[in-house]
Amino acid sequence: MSSREELLKRAREAQKNAYAPYSNFQVGAALLSAGGKVYTGSNVENSSYGLSICAERAAVFKAVNDGERDFALLAVVASGQGYVFPCGACLQVLAEFSPEMKLIITDEKDHYKEYALQDMLPQIFSLGKQEE
Ligand SMILES: [Zn+2]
Repeated sequence: MSSREELLKRAREAQKNAYAPYSNFQVGAALLSAGGKVYTGSNVENSSYGLSICAERAAVFKAVNDGERDFALLAVVASGQGYVFPCGACLQVLAEFSPEMKLIITDEKDHYKEYALQDMLPQIFSLGKQEE
């Protein structure tokens, strides 16, 4: 099994823990650190909708709280049809730590496509580091 398939498997496992009673849209993410550790996340919704958090950010925050700040690859799986992409907020949070990382986006049958984060979010917001 390739490391990408293993990461997808971990994301599918994490998806089972999604708390999505409002959207019924379950998402799982598996984040591979540069050092080879995997951190997973699932979306967690709230009856106050704005407090909900995406699976991708749940995984990043878990990793950062464990002392990791350098990421290589993130796999995302979802319960929807077709390829499901991360939202802009999650891309920005990933870019804060690892703008050179890659993402694996899947469809419902675990076909996957790989993208560079820089191609998905070419102009990131960054305090004090604006280019001319
Ligand atoms: Zn998101």
